[in-house]
Amino acid sequence: MRQVLLLNATYEPLTTLPLRRAVCLVLREKAEVVHHDTSGAVLHSAAVSIEVPSVIRLRRYVRIPFRTRVPLTRAALMRRDNFRCVYCGRRAETIDHVQPRSRGGMHVWENCVASCMPCNHSKADRLLDELGWTLTVTPGVPRGAHWRLIGVINDGDPQWAPYVTQPAA
Ligand SMILES: [Zn+2]
Repeated sequence: MRQVLLLNATYEPLTTLPLRRAVCLVLREKAEVVHHDTSGAVLHSAAVSIEVPSVIRLRRYVRIPFRTRVPLTRAALMRRDNFRCVYCGRRAETIDHVQPRSRGGMHVWENCVASCMPCNHSKADRLLDELGWTLTVTPGVPRGAHWRLIGVINDGDPQWAPYVTQPAA
């Protein structure tokens, strides 16, 4: 199913949604088309024809709840930690649970860090205290709408690029 990029009234990217839902928003005048699909495809329904949108924008600003957490994905975690092992600074290939899962650690942003393979192996299921290791940063939840779109930016429609490239916050 084709996806459409949804922008807030402020042009901040919010999410992607299936074409059918995007067209509904446009027909109900909740959103306007910012960018038509370059293929020039047209969608026909019983009553109307509409050019297939690639990017739409809400007519009214929608406040994004502060507490909405960015989903924890491998791609987003690597980006947060700059693809560097938090323990030694080499290139990270794995996700390490600071408090190991076998010892009650949760799979959440605050307990996950990017790690290289050797560090992950030597840490195994031990706590940092037991190893005498320290973290120089406190792992946290990234904030900002563009974090939701990390997978989208890489895998999404190239037509979206001008709308989703935002400075890292
Ligand atoms: Zn390392």
